[in-house]
Amino acid sequence: MSSDLRFETASEEETRSLGRKLADILPECGTVLLRGALGAGKTTLAQGIIEGRGLARADDIASPTFTLIHEYGDPVRVYHVDLYRLDTAEQVRHIGLEDILDRHALVLVEWGERFLEVLPEAYVEIRLTVINSDQRLIEVLGLANR
Ligand code: ADP
Ligand code: MG
Repeated sequence: MSSDLRFETASEEETRSLGRKLADILPECGTVLLRGALGAGKTTLAQGIIEGRGLARADDIASPTFTLIHEYGDPVRVYHVDLYRLDTAEQVRHIGLEDILDRHALVLVEWGERFLEVLPEAYVEIRLTVINSDQRLIEVLGLANR
């Protein structure tokens, strides 16, 4: 997968702001893998995307680390999923991820690369790389595959 877009941010707020812009570029529905180390900014970027779609304020968008799946919109237009605490594809299926992926919504998934067998073949990948304590490289891949 080649990188379609490439950004650098220098703060948490810049990453959130980039997420608000990406909200306009990302497809209306489909799977988006948010890929990067712990603390890279995956949840922060998701906050911006959800905010950019007009579904919630960043302050009201918590990490789904413990709850696994958060929903935004009525009807739901964005799901925010965090698979960090799951170990097997069977557990991922058990929380109903496949069903969610079939719905007409954007599904943002943290740690989804650990369970590629459960994900659809076509997805957008947003890769976050820590440059230093404040700077992040953020690359969007696979937009053209859609
Ligand atoms: P993840 O979901 O990838 O584990 P979070 O978004 O929860 O990461 O946390 C990112 C952490 O990194 C926050 O503590 C944030 O303040 C810090 N941070 C520093 N610089 C940036 C940046 N440029 N973008 C996003 N987060 C940043
Ligand atoms: Mg997170």
